[in-house]
Amino acid sequence: MISAKMRPFLENNSAIRMMFEEGKKMAELYGADRVYDFSLGNPNVPAPEKLNQAIRDILDEEDSRLVHGYMSNAGFPQVRAAIAENLNRRFGTKFTEKNLIMTVGAGSGLNVALKTLLDPGDEVITFSPYFLEYRAYVTNYDGVLVTVAPDEPTFQINQEEFRARISAKTKAVIINNPNNPTGVVYSEATIRALSAILEEKQKEYGHAIYLISDEPYRELVFDGAVVPFVTKYYGNAIVVYSYSKSLSLPGERIGYVLIPDELEDSDMVIDAATIANRISGCVNAPSLIQLAVGRCVDCSADLDFYDRNRKALYDGLTKLGFTCVQPQGAFYLWMKIPVRSAGMSGSDVGRQDGLTVENGFANVDQEAEFVEAAKKYHILMVPGSSFACPGYVRLAYCVAYETIVSSLPEFAKLAREYML
Ligand code: PLP
Repeated sequence: MISAKMRPFLENNSAIRMMFEEGKKMAELYGADRVYDFSLGNPNVPAPEKLNQAIRDILDEEDSRLVHGYMSNAGFPQVRAAIAENLNRRFGTKFTEKNLIMTVGAGSGLNVALKTLLDPGDEVITFSPYFLEYRAYVTNYDGVLVTVAPDEPTFQINQEEFRARISAKTKAVIINNPNNPTGVVYSEATIRALSAILEEKQKEYGHAIYLISDEPYRELVFDGAVVPFVTKYYGNAIVVYSYSKSLSLPGERIGYVLIPDELEDSDMVIDAATIANRISGCVNAPSLIQLAVGRCVDCSADLDFYDRNRKALYDGLTKLGFTCVQPQGAFYLWMKIPVRSAGMSGSDVGRQDGLTVENGFANVDQEAEFVEAAKKYHILMVPGSSFACPGYVRLAYCVAYETIVSSLPEFAKLAREYML
């Protein structure tokens, strides 16, 4: 029999993953060009050619015992040094290789950070809507995830509720900037206010509260938006990064955890995180791709590709009458679901009068109905409840531009059904 701890995961297997599988089945049935799958954040942009060339060069140039061998659990020193130097140039920081631990993507980086910090019963605060794996990652170490309600309509942070949620048990706070699923970039004012509250609460409770900033979408920003570099605002900040999105390498599983010297007990935290990387079973981040990203620290994401998609989808959907959060970062669009009148269902049409909406959010049934209605037009979107925020859907626009263009007439049919 499997463990009691695993049973809920079996019952609530990731809705995003299930939708991805459904999309593949629909593509077989109707043809890939007639399925508009906005479910998974799997970049449709190829990895940079420089990276592919770096892999070939490494195989030709380097000793294969180095390329394929075990290494320090923190990763290759020269790779970490190259990343530190790149960060210092961009953000005016003073990191060295010592501050970086290469990890098996951001997912593993978050696990390394939480394994390093949490004792059973420790609380970790995050902000709805959030990447649902956070709950699993926190419970992996018997922590308790505490959530702060969405700050509609900006989806920045409700600072007063955040302050109220911090308790003597709070050990860490996870933010995700730019944000999945809202596409929002937390502003400098947001990060400053959050940091001030954390400083105040650290003093009040007499222990460190670590801010873990999950940043796989750091470079994916538009319209001149700036992602504040958290270590410059708060001493006890840890950055978790991934190359999955910026360099289109999600299957390669490569990222890092950054632990600054300013962090309380920094040396001990770095040593513990290095061991956590090992004893989680990862041992070290994959070697060949580690060496390759080390040669490509200056490579950048294809922002024009995402920006074109972003504009086409946002403009197209808002023209049809849907209400969307203007995305500034990542490659997600967060759309409010229109709600039929109470008592109407199926092909009945009704406008948003007499809504069964509480606090501005549609309920889970209305959300499920919308997601199902969209499937009739071969449109796949992830329900907001997959991010603990029903009443919205997330559309990943890291798809081919043509998918967006040809999906819009289908969205128009969906809009008509909802009388937009
Ligand atoms: N954090 C967020 C917010 C994400 O959206 C994702 C992936 O979609 C991850 C972490 C995990 O990224 P990785 O592929 O690097 O493990």
